[in-house]
Amino acid sequence: MRKCEYENWLMLYHDGELDAERRRRLEAHLPACARCRAQLERLRGLSHLLAQAEAPAMPDGMMGRLHEAVATCGERAIITLCRNALLATAALLALTGGLWLYGRTPAGPSSAPQAWEVAAVTPDTGTLETDDTEQITVWMVRELSRETK
Ligand SMILES: [Zn+2]
Repeated sequence: MRKCEYENWLMLYHDGELDAERRRRLEAHLPACARCRAQLERLRGLSHLLAQAEAPAMPDGMMGRLHEAVATCGERAIITLCRNALLATAALLALTGGLWLYGRTPAGPSSAPQAWEVAAVTPDTGTLETDDTEQITVWMVRELSRETK
């Protein structure tokens, strides 16, 4: 099936961020376009799924160790750590959503991941600084090894 010209508006529409004129045009288009209705249904399902997902509880003492790490690693490393954690979270959510969408997509040529799905789960390693990444890796290994003791 060909891509519909209204598809780029669906995310904004779903998030309530489409301006009134385009919202009116999209709402007039939806009854006539099964593809857009299906995409919108997927977005709603994905939002519902993400809303149900609970954030994991922070292990005991982790906040204290995080404060310690700020002192020893420096502010820059923590900023990178937060960025990496956000990237990892985004990748996980994208992967979860992707798997969910994949499970709902009928088999066939159209079930291959779209470019944005591949981009969403591919870490952007080009923006990471080697020193910080190394420091964070050490910190994470240390942190994880504490958890298993
Ligand atoms: Zn359409």
